[in-house]
Amino acid sequence: MKSLIVANWKMNPPNLEAAKRLVRVIKKGLRGIAGIEIVFCPPFIFLSDIKNELKKSGIQLGAQNLFWAEKGAYTGEISVSMIKSLGCSYVIIGHSERRQILGETDEIVNLKLRQTLKRGLNCVLCIGETLEEKQEDKMTEVITHQLQSNLKDVSLFSLPRISIAYEPIWAIGSGTPPANPNEIMTAGLLVRKILANLYSASAAQKMRILYGGSVVGSNATLYIKESGMNGLLVGGASLNATEFINIIKTVSSI
Ligand code: PEP
Repeated sequence: MKSLIVANWKMNPPNLEAAKRLVRVIKKGLRGIAGIEIVFCPPFIFLSDIKNELKKSGIQLGAQNLFWAEKGAYTGEISVSMIKSLGCSYVIIGHSERRQILGETDEIVNLKLRQTLKRGLNCVLCIGETLEEKQEDKMTEVITHQLQSNLKDVSLFSLPRISIAYEPIWAIGSGTPPANPNEIMTAGLLVRKILANLYSASAAQKMRILYGGSVVGSNATLYIKESGMNGLLVGGASLNATEFINIIKTVSSI
């Protein structure tokens, strides 16, 4: 299966000009690179302009969040149809920052996931344990619960539209020390096993499992080659054109 690299810009860069500049430099640096699926997830407000910048690049557009209802009195929220109408083919759901800072529960994540699938959009479902849960040896319990509740009432038929991003919260944005590739391999296998129990071994085998957490050019190979992950969710390094180009080039050469 093709590797999937998702750039999560979070609430960056500070203005549209900087966002366009970033895309232009990355696009130029990636000319001629094939065989990898790349998705840029800028803030909502830049989606439309970034879509224009991405024309003919083969790079896809994604949103960082969405609301679970289709329309109505939900001040400040954005529906799946809205993000689809701006050209998004992906959306990130359940990022740990939304879970932790904005109080998104597993039930909310499940509502968002089901709405996304109902409207035919691809999604990256983020899961992962906190440092405290890791230290208490609760990683298996935590990610099992997340997958069970987040995928509740999601049919086997919808699975091809879902990629799972295993993002241990202790590894996000921390830089040092980076997550150990062996540990990530174990987590990846565990995620696949849970998916196999929830659905079937063959369905689980076909799903993409990504790793996210302080990925940079110099460690990207480890997580793909040694950990066997099917792609990467990149935060901080996706805002640095040189670093992001490096990540893509490294993964494409594997
Ligand atoms: C993320 O927030 O999804 C992420 C992986 O961030 P970073 O790459 O900065 O750790």
